[in-house]
Amino acid sequence: MRLGDDIDDHCSRCKRTTDHSIVAMAGDEVLKSRCRTCGGEHKYRQNKSRNKEMTAKEAFDKVLSSVTGDEPKPRKKA
Ligand SMILES: [Zn+2]
Repeated sequence: MRLGDDIDDHCSRCKRTTDHSIVAMAGDEVLKSRCRTCGGEHKYRQNKSRNKEMTAKEAFDKVLSSVTGDEPKPRKKA
């Protein structure tokens, strides 16, 4: 990892994980990243999944199941 490297992080503006560039580091720790989608700089959040990396499909399935699980389907009377 070095300054300017690509890194994945969660962007609060985009409300999703996007491509970021490293803009500040301390040793091996990334301090700040810049979202390549909206250009916003923010504290590096370590993508909130440092211990377990999810594949894109796993992440999608998780989101999908949380959406379908939380929202009860409105029943239409035929
Ligand atoms: Zn963004």
